[in-house]
Amino acid sequence: MLAYTYVSKGTFELREKPRPVLQDPRDAIVRVTLSSICTSDLHIKHGSVPRAVPGITVGHEMVGVVEELGSAVRGLHPGDRVAVNVETFCGGCYFCRHGWVNNCTDPNGGWALGCRIDGGQAEYVRVPYADQGLSKIPEHVTDRQALFAGDILATGYWAADISEISSEDTVLIIGAGPTGICTLQCVLLKNPRQVVVCEQDPVRLDFVRRHYPQVLTVGPEEAPAFLASHSGHGGADRVLEVAGGPDTFSLAWQCARPNAIVTVVALYDTPQVLPLPEMYGKNLTFKTGGVDGCKCGEILDLIAAGRLDTTPLITHTYPLARIAEAYDLFEHRQDNVIKVAIENGQ
Ligand SMILES: [Zn+2]
Ligand SMILES: [Zn+2]
Repeated sequence: MLAYTYVSKGTFELREKPRPVLQDPRDAIVRVTLSSICTSDLHIKHGSVPRAVPGITVGHEMVGVVEELGSAVRGLHPGDRVAVNVETFCGGCYFCRHGWVNNCTDPNGGWALGCRIDGGQAEYVRVPYADQGLSKIPEHVTDRQALFAGDILATGYWAADISEISSEDTVLIIGAGPTGICTLQCVLLKNPRQVVVCEQDPVRLDFVRRHYPQVLTVGPEEAPAFLASHSGHGGADRVLEVAGGPDTFSLAWQCARPNAIVTVVALYDTPQVLPLPEMYGKNLTFKTGGVDGCKCGEILDLIAAGRLDTTPLITHTYPLARIAEAYDLFEHRQDNVIKVAIENGQ
């Protein structure tokens, strides 16, 4: 089968590989129908994910059809259409039992697919702990609708959840890339009083204005003053930092009112400064971390109910055979790309 492979720093290649086989009774083999490229894939390509193992097939956002199941997998059948979870988790350890599946203590727990084990930019993928890692796609939900349920939409859903948003809040979201927009959709489900999106890229700002006319938009320079004047208490009640830019962490807490919650979803390339003397008396609560991606079923139900729709994010579609072109386009943000879907024609 064809598999897009992390060869070495800077090099990905479409290679012919053997089809994956079941290795454990809790495994499933999934025939991938649609996958996508994530910014994290680019981080692997650029060598900034030290855990990534050269030779692995990349890709951790995918949907497909169950081809084969290990003998211990319950609740799934060959032929089921499924969304694949970005995280691998056992479901039974201390962290899994608390819903903190990102910290699953299994040796392969956390983000393994397309990083430490073979992922889904391929024709087939082996999914460990399939009873946890696969969610059945409701009948009327298309592959394109379900594509992000296991990764960027799961991230937005988790971020909105842990931010403790109430109907009185002014919520600031920093960053309107794909994950920022997923976060925005999930924040809107909480019905806050007001949502402000801060973004510097005019294409992304335009996307937000066209699709979410109820949301206010602002550039980073104007953001602190804008939030001070557009919220009831001198700043945002909740800030969700999804941008991960050089200055966006400091922007996040500067835009927050005293006693606000600042949720850091972003992954940074460099350490960030927490200037406690400057923050003294602001009494902020920071929440950080990687997604606990175990709400895929809930997310798919919301998609089925028409309350979440990430299909407008898919601006381009390529066949697997042309995935290198798709990476080029995505990496260099050509042609107003937001997300690229990779289709397996079978
Ligand atoms: Zn991702
Ligand atoms: Zn676990």
